[in-house]
Amino acid sequence: MTPYPPDLDRWREAGRIAARARELGLRLAVPGARRRDIAEAIEAFIRDQGAAPAFPANLSRNHEAAHFTPPPDDTGELAAGDLLKVDVGAHLDGAIADTADTVEVGGSHRHENLVRAAREGLREGIARVRPGIRVDEISRAVAEAIRARGLRPIQDLTGHSIERYLLHAGKSIPNVPGMTDATLEEGEVIAIEPFATNGVGRIANGPFGHIARFRSVPSGTDPVLSGLYARFRTLPFAMRWARTPEEAEALRGARRYLQTYPVFLERSGGLVAQAEHTVLVGPARGEVLSALPSGD
Ligand code: MN
Ligand code: MN
Repeated sequence: MTPYPPDLDRWREAGRIAARARELGLRLAVPGARRRDIAEAIEAFIRDQGAAPAFPANLSRNHEAAHFTPPPDDTGELAAGDLLKVDVGAHLDGAIADTADTVEVGGSHRHENLVRAAREGLREGIARVRPGIRVDEISRAVAEAIRARGLRPIQDLTGHSIERYLLHAGKSIPNVPGMTDATLEEGEVIAIEPFATNGVGRIANGPFGHIARFRSVPSGTDPVLSGLYARFRTLPFAMRWARTPEEAEALRGARRYLQTYPVFLERSGGLVAQAEHTVLVGPARGEVLSALPSGD
């Protein structure tokens, strides 16, 4: 049995902060904007709200499905027609919200079918959340909504259960049926995150996405590296988050202590849209924790 988080109001507050951070990122994604500036604005907003980023702002574009954050020296600009995923995480004392949406830069409406497919998959998935339901029913609803638009769900990216300080706790929420025998329990927190593509619906590993985490405590006496470990612990961080040239250098030299994340690319080069909410399994239905508060 997974009980409700004892600090449920904190999870709700983290959800509201993450929702506002997501919308900020979507608003800032205009032609000529730099992804680095958008990521930094999102992360600064989360910190201004008294929370912390649960992971670096992910701003994957076009056939990049996930796990890209801008590097420290990124100067690239968004162009009209780019399909940008804004995937943000905020946590308050380990109470995590994880949420995403997709914007078509410049409002060109060329890729509206993809954006709507991801959102409809998310909506259909959320509509089925209740205690005791088989996760497979959610997965089936997600996949059917995406296929109804003539597109494919990405089958090797999944939603996940969330626990305190654990973004990916044990349970997967697949975007295609036939992958899991799990059921949902009242009081669980889950992220549902459909990815829709006009490609084959599989991912491949791309280059380093400028996101890493310590997989072990760095040995030795380098005070700069020890300070970085004290700051990030084992949570994912951006190479951008080095505050001084010495910290950047220490990170570059510490690869043996780091797990580094590759960008996930759509294997056939297809375009990818994503939508994601963090949802509490309530007594009768799902409570969307990362919904934008009414009045915003
Ligand atoms: Mn996410
Ligand atoms: Mn997620």
